[in-house]
Amino acid sequence: MEVDVAVIGCGPAGIQAAMHASRKKTSVVVMGRIQSSAIHGCRLDNYLGTGKTEGSAILEEGRAQAESTGARFLGQNVIAAAGTGNGFDLTVEDGTEYHAKAVVLATGISRKKLGIPGEKELFGKGVSYCAVCDCNFYKGRKAVIVGNDSEAATSAEMMTSYASETSWVTWETVADRSLVAKAEKAGVRIYGSKPESITGTDRVEALVLEDGTSIPTDGVFIELGAKSSADLAMDLGAMPEIDDTLKVGRDMSTGVPGLFACGDITGRPWQVAKAVGEGCVAGTSAADFAKGAK
Ligand SMILES: Cc1cc2nc3c(=O)[nH]c(=O)nc-3n(C[C@H](O)[C@H](O)[C@H](O)COP(=O)(O)OP(=O)(O)OC[C@H]3O[C@@H](n4cnc5c(N)ncnc54)[C@H](O)[C@@H]3O)c2cc1C
Repeated sequence: MEVDVAVIGCGPAGIQAAMHASRKKTSVVVMGRIQSSAIHGCRLDNYLGTGKTEGSAILEEGRAQAESTGARFLGQNVIAAAGTGNGFDLTVEDGTEYHAKAVVLATGISRKKLGIPGEKELFGKGVSYCAVCDCNFYKGRKAVIVGNDSEAATSAEMMTSYASETSWVTWETVADRSLVAKAEKAGVRIYGSKPESITGTDRVEALVLEDGTSIPTDGVFIELGAKSSADLAMDLGAMPEIDDTLKVGRDMSTGVPGLFACGDITGRPWQVAKAVGEGCVAGTSAADFAKGAK
């Protein structure tokens, strides 16, 4: 099936891209599942003009807006992708093949996990993968940041502005020394042993380390960096950075003619506001490309 623009990803970035591309009178299909978006099932309280809003509500409303201008949502993942030199071939789960003149890659990232007991069971009940997203809920409460690199150090220092007590668990520290010093100066307690388990019944109660230390806490923030849908990007001809993000230009172009990217996959900050802004630009650029205007 021939389409002008294929959007891969059904989160805030992809939906906004679909909206802007379809408003430019191009045929647009959107691949992926709304339920798999990082913001589905989370509450958003830092997006312009929305107050405290369920992520799922924003996504569903966005889908209705994009559908009203002609975008078609398939509700299926891409299982095979290739750049043809004259567009892109994409196959979805039911075997249907699409040929798109332009593609917007908006596949987000998947957070790296610790893989310890309690992590999965208590996700959303005190276990989080995004300190900057959830810090506001920890005002006057205890928080532990887990991770070895600079993002973890920065998150720990930031958390001291919210939590009554902030700890940082780092066992193979590679964070910039100046950031470690800043965290220490802000009053962060640093522990040097690897996490072993997260305990609690209905909510997180403590993080237990391999050396036997138990740190009582209300929240455990796992900040281990991120892995993006790098394989898909490579299939389409783009080479991801070492951290699996994609470098983009101001028009969200990736360097591969006709391939644009937006949202979490282009790097931090992992925030809906950034995803939506980039989606607007990527959708517009992809539509212009498909119409031969670029
Ligand atoms: C617990 C939590 C709380 C958060 N809280 C906030 C907050 O309060 N405020 C804020 O601004 N941000 C918050 N975030 C971050 C926010 O969710 C992300 O920045 C945002 O969702 C990124 O949008 P995106 O469209 O780039 O990616 P996502 O929303 O993750 O969407 C990715 C899409 O790609 C699709 N996809 C992946 N692989 C394929 C494939 N092979 N084929 C087709 N589709 C594919 C998925 O189905 C999904 O639809 C939070 C994140 C988490 C995890």
